[in-house]
Formats: sequence, structure tokens, C-alpha cells
Amino acid sequence: MRQLGPTIGADQLERTLTYERIRYETPAEGVARITLARPEAANAQDYLMLSELNAAFDVAAADDTIRVIVLAADGKHFSSGHDLSAGEVDMDDFPTVGTQCHFDAAGTEGYMAREAEMYLGLCWRWRNLAKPTIAQVQGKVIAGGLMLVWPMDLIVASDDASFSDPVVAFNVNGVEYFAHPFEAGARLAKEMLFTGRSLNARELMERGMVNKVVPRSDLEAETLKLASHIAKRPSFGLTLAKQSVNQAVDATGMYSALQAAFSLHHVGHSNNMEVHGRRIDPSGIDVIRSEA
Ligand code: ZN
Repeated sequence: MRQLGPTIGADQLERTLTYERIRYETPAEGVARITLARPEAANAQDYLMLSELNAAFDVAAADDTIRVIVLAADGKHFSSGHDLSAGEVDMDDFPTVGTQCHFDAAGTEGYMAREAEMYLGLCWRWRNLAKPTIAQVQGKVIAGGLMLVWPMDLIVASDDASFSDPVVAFNVNGVEYFAHPFEAGARLAKEMLFTGRSLNARELMERGMVNKVVPRSDLEAETLKLASHIAKRPSFGLTLAKQSVNQAVDATGMYSALQAAFSLHHVGHSNNMEVHGRRIDPSGIDVIRSEA
């Protein structure tokens, strides 16, 4: 169990952490870069990766010299989503940062608490970090992969990037951080979910769902250039600007909508458990693979 002391400084914090699933770097003045480092599994997310990611965001947030945070990924694909082979986890292995409890309870009680902590809770926490965040995205971003991209403030995509959430095939509504209507608009969000299809980089740009599309070979340099440009501005002004935009979106009821969708997500999981004895419909994977 790696508990982080509440008064520890960023330097100390960084020294106390060793990462297995990510890398933490400071590639330019004022810029921290966190990289998903599990390319052999297309950066599939297990709880260890999400927990390390959260710890690294905390390090960057606590470091007064950091003004912008980049979230990048090694390999061909940004992230294939949740690691479906991860199996049951022991929440005692991870420091929790939310207010959930009874993680080990049987049935929906424990499962919903775990997903509220590790998915909805962490994503919302990252969305509200006081510093600007930029997702640097290449290749496929599938389902849970979007839960790392949506909470970031800006998105720089390479020309081979594509976004999809095909998990309606698993007989649930979509991913746990259900920001799709806010990111894609209601009509496109429904099309994405009903069909499971991918949105390519051109479409993402046309729809205003990413800030910039660049050649794959330029992705890292272009993202760093943007981060360095932003990092020249004072930290508090950036925080105020970020919070002003976030609060405008919040005023439309985003958090309530996220919570409502999360509740329906667990109706889906519970129904699958009653019908199939599993949290997801086992026939879904064949549907998704046949259309990939
Ligand atoms: Zn779920």
C-alpha cells in the first residue's frame, strides 16, 4: 500500500514514487509530461496504471515550477481502454483519494464503489486540476481510453488518431466517465454509441473535438511547443481561465449528467450480472472484433 503523506513536497513525493505503468518527465521549462508506458498492451489501463497516473498528476500539481501538464502515451496506440484481463483487484493496494467506501462489499455495492473511485472519481479530479493539461494522442483511443482524453483541457492528435466507445455491445451505456454528449454533441454521441464506430482525426478536427491535428512524426514536438507557449503565462491566470471555462460547462449540469450516466452504467452492469453472471455481456467482444 503506498500512502502519500499529506504534507510532502513535490520533490520528496517524486522521490518516494516508483512507477511501473507510466513515466514522469519535465521535458521543457514549466512543463511536466506523464507518459503511459505499457505499449506492449496498447496502454490498457489496470488500476495500477490509473493510480500511478493520479499520483503523477499530484506531483505535477504540487510542483511550483510546473505550469502545464502533458499526458502522452508510448507506442502505436494511445490506449485500448480498460484492461479486461486484469481480474479482481484488492483496493488495499491503492491509495484512494475520494469518499467511496465498502470496496470489498459483495454485489453492486462494492463494484460501484470501486468504479466510482477509480473511474468517475479520478477522471473528475483530473478534469479539475488547477493547471492546464494537454492530451498528446496517437493511434486508437478506445472506450476507457477516452476517459483519459476527455478530462484534459486541450487535445493534440496525430493524423492516425481515432476515437471510439464501442461498449454498448457489452450491454452497458458507454464508459464510466460519460462525457460524450459534452465532447461530441448529443447527435454524434448517440451515433458513436449506437454504432460503435471510430471517429477519425479529420472528423475530430471538423467537429471541434480536438484542438489540432499534426503528422504522427511531429506529434511530440508540436505538443511540447504548445505546452511551452502556454507555460509562459502566469500560473494563477491560467488557473482562473481554466476554472472560468469549467464553471461555464458545470453551469449546464455536467457533473449531474455524469453521475446520472454512471448510475445507468451500473444498472447495465447489474443487469448483465443477473442475466449472464458477468458484469458485461460476453457476446459483445465478438461484435466489436467483427467490426474492428
Ligand atoms: Zn463499468
